[in-house]
Amino acid sequence: MPSFFETRIEFLKGVGPQKAALINTELGLFTYADLIQHYPFRYEDRTKFHQISALNADMPYVQIKGRIRKIKTIGQMRKKRLVVTFEDGTGEIELIWFKGIEWISKKLRPGVDYVIFGKPTVYGRKINIAHPELEVLTTQNEKNSLLQPVYHTTEKLKSRYLDSKAISKMVRQVITMAENYIMETLPESLLSQFGLIEKKFALWHIHFPSNNELLKKAQFRLKFEELFYIQLRLLKLKLTRKEEFQGQVFNDSTLLTDFYKNHLPFELTQAQKRVIKEIYQDMKSGKQMNRLLQGDVGSGKTIVAFICMLLVVGKGGQASMMAPTEILADQHYEGLKEYADKLNIGIARLKGSTKVKERRLIHEGLLNGSIQILVGTHALIEDIVQFQNLGLAIIDEQHRFGVAQRAKLWGKNREVHPHVLVMTATPIPRTLAMTLYGDLDVSTIDELPKGRKPIETHHQYESKRLQVFGFMKEQIAAGRQIYIVYPLIEESSKMDLKDLMDGYESISRAFPDNHVSIVHGKMKAQDKDFEMQRFVRHETQIMVATTVIEVGVNVPNASVMVIENAERFGLAQLHQLRGRVGRGAEQSYCILMTDYKLSKEARTRLDTMVRTNNGFEIADMDLRLRGPGDLTGTQQSGVLDLLIADISKDQQILQTARNAAQDILEADSNLEKAENQNILRHINSLKKSVVNWGRIS
Ligand code: ADP
Ligand code: MG
Repeated sequence: MPSFFETRIEFLKGVGPQKAALINTELGLFTYADLIQHYPFRYEDRTKFHQISALNADMPYVQIKGRIRKIKTIGQMRKKRLVVTFEDGTGEIELIWFKGIEWISKKLRPGVDYVIFGKPTVYGRKINIAHPELEVLTTQNEKNSLLQPVYHTTEKLKSRYLDSKAISKMVRQVITMAENYIMETLPESLLSQFGLIEKKFALWHIHFPSNNELLKKAQFRLKFEELFYIQLRLLKLKLTRKEEFQGQVFNDSTLLTDFYKNHLPFELTQAQKRVIKEIYQDMKSGKQMNRLLQGDVGSGKTIVAFICMLLVVGKGGQASMMAPTEILADQHYEGLKEYADKLNIGIARLKGSTKVKERRLIHEGLLNGSIQILVGTHALIEDIVQFQNLGLAIIDEQHRFGVAQRAKLWGKNREVHPHVLVMTATPIPRTLAMTLYGDLDVSTIDELPKGRKPIETHHQYESKRLQVFGFMKEQIAAGRQIYIVYPLIEESSKMDLKDLMDGYESISRAFPDNHVSIVHGKMKAQDKDFEMQRFVRHETQIMVATTVIEVGVNVPNASVMVIENAERFGLAQLHQLRGRVGRGAEQSYCILMTDYKLSKEARTRLDTMVRTNNGFEIADMDLRLRGPGDLTGTQQSGVLDLLIADISKDQQILQTARNAAQDILEADSNLEKAENQNILRHINSLKKSVVNWGRIS
């Protein structure tokens, strides 16, 4: 026998198999539980009646009461419409129907008091309401104190009379019956600590709030619960790993000291030192490290990565570093090789394009331990790549890799999982990081190396192009190099490629005395590399490119970043691109080129870029503008499929819920205490429906 909540909605009075099937496919609702969790997406205020004389077209939905004075049908055939003159003593208004005319006009009775609900608009010079809702005034709706729930539905459902109202009726039916089945899912202690209303009460008032205050309380309670259980799962996962997974102990810093003393090219920032200490603590703890290292572009994550590798190599272990593109892998390899050579450490590079013969040597070297550091692209997670003793796996720019790839790296050492360090330069707002990487420990480099001059950012319109070119010429004359970036070339987009090529040509013409490189996603890796290297060696002064240069590329002498059609880029991407300059001692510039015509949102993005260089501030704005669903890397994660909470708006609740979950696990890591029985029971019921929960036990 299915439990009450698993009952299929076709058994509801007035629903039946046909309607149920339609609701299944259109809304994905199958059971009573689904219906109860189909929360309204907004509420209509039916608490007050407006006067007709006070209506204007800027008002949202309004409610009025009055009587019908006149009914007439105007026009022929498809232009036919029903026009009802409606009055309330302060004035009159026209109610208009284009569809269902027969049916409506039969229902209408002059002289009877009606309640009308709809959106006022202007037509001609008159205010009217098209297709309003209309009900006979009764004592019940007269003193209507309810906020009416509005539910998502579809055109197809509406055409079968399954509109928001009908869904509301179904919900009311289920939730009335559910009264005795709804169990409290949070412990008493949390309810009283945070002033949360009971689950049963919350579910009722999320659908049928008697007033605004109760609605707020219901929302708070349900959001808290949702976020609490996500955080509990993540924190439990982290805890379980810490208890279960041993890590190799790397507690020898001799090699590190040698490097510090004799080869470190600059003094580390305080933030770099702090982060290295945090990582060192993990590596000598005997537990497996799973840590996220975040730091804005140019904050110096690479050297931190190398230093951590030294801890491992110094005790006979091996380390790997995986980058999302070949260009980036090359750059890491070349940078790290310089240090590694000085310390007599064996280092190799593995990419998709690495020749078979060389590959074989690498595989051998990894197995016999002569290669201690391996740098590469995702080629290095292929099964054939085996290590003698992988102690540390580093992933650069995590958002380009999936969780599955992270897991694959774990398997590279069968004896003891390698420590894992995930690096990202895409600043993630704290709350989002808590959810996306909530099972990782987090280290943050929140300081740039000394002597960096903040990048100056300007927004210029097309009409200023000549001046921009003039400025570029000055910079080149002063010995600097310049990037010019065009929007991404999609696989299919011939337009973008043309834009880029036209741009390349006009730049070549405008700068006849200079050499210009070009790099885009459609080029062969080899050609890309060749062009990139010319720019690195300063054989070319200008690099025309698409966003392939977005991550990681490091040419300190490049001091100007010009971004064409800047309105087509997202904030995170603009910030990444800007991070390509400002890496040397010179003053750097970022110039955002656009048309005059800009959407409001695009303007906000550009203004934000001009106003601040702070990656975290930019990430916060990005989250606010786009919502979490669109942020890079969040799409496949699933953690953001929330029923009611919104990570961009409910940051405070999230933090509170996470702290609460932390406290509970600290006091009772296996949830064995009597007071936590509600939690355990709820997790067990979730386990049935949510796959992820399986990992907790
Ligand atoms: P990211 O964090 O974006 O990966 P990188 O590791 O590429 O940054 O470092 C950016 C540049 O800053 C590199 O040229 C690097 O050598 C330099 N750098 C890193 N740390 C310091 C420091 N403490 N002082 C001076 N320069 C540094
Ligand atoms: Mg980097």
